[in-house]
Amino acid sequence: MRLVLLGAPGSGKGTQAELLKAQYGCAHISTGDILRRNLKDKTELGVRAGVFMNKGELVPDGLVVEMVEKRLREDDAANSFLMDGFPRTLPQAEALESMLKELDRPLDVVLFLKVEEEFLVRRLTNRRTCRSCGKIWNALLMATGTKACPECGGELHQRDDDMESVIRNRLDVYREQTEPLMSWYEKKGLLRSIDAVNSPEKTFKEIQVALGR
Ligand SMILES: [Zn+2]
Repeated sequence: MRLVLLGAPGSGKGTQAELLKAQYGCAHISTGDILRRNLKDKTELGVRAGVFMNKGELVPDGLVVEMVEKRLREDDAANSFLMDGFPRTLPQAEALESMLKELDRPLDVVLFLKVEEEFLVRRLTNRRTCRSCGKIWNALLMATGTKACPECGGELHQRDDDMESVIRNRLDVYREQTEPLMSWYEKKGLLRSIDAVNSPEKTFKEIQVALGR
């Protein structure tokens, strides 16, 4: 099974990726992980990416594509993989298509976790992070005015990343980048939309139905 998982920030993509990996044993190809690993091992690609990151710039498409291609050639990704965080743009999707063609391993399906934007904003603006243990909590699910981490008693705070204006901006950027990508996959008949507003378990059941398993 070769699949791409798409979803906006806050859509629960990370959780579904873990569930898919546990259930089907597919290699989890996450650009975040690949980037961290290349930086840590100081690979040639990592060093090149570091130059951009040190300047606070995005790592260019071409470099991300090279890293993914190298990862795809590792043994565990030979038959079954799950792409998470890639492709993010249409040029990346086209690059992925040509590298999979070369490897003779076309994609089976592209799953899109669909969540209304207002729901995402509400979910993300209610995130509270513990200053001591780093655990993330949902303020909507805790007693009003809770200031301490239920686990370690540390102080809960709202990260700058979780402020409404920052979140709306991130969602705008995501939508602008991803919409062309989705219509491109739709035309190829690969896109499956999954209703992802419910619990992670329910969402995962929908994914299994979409996969026909
Ligand atoms: Zn804590």
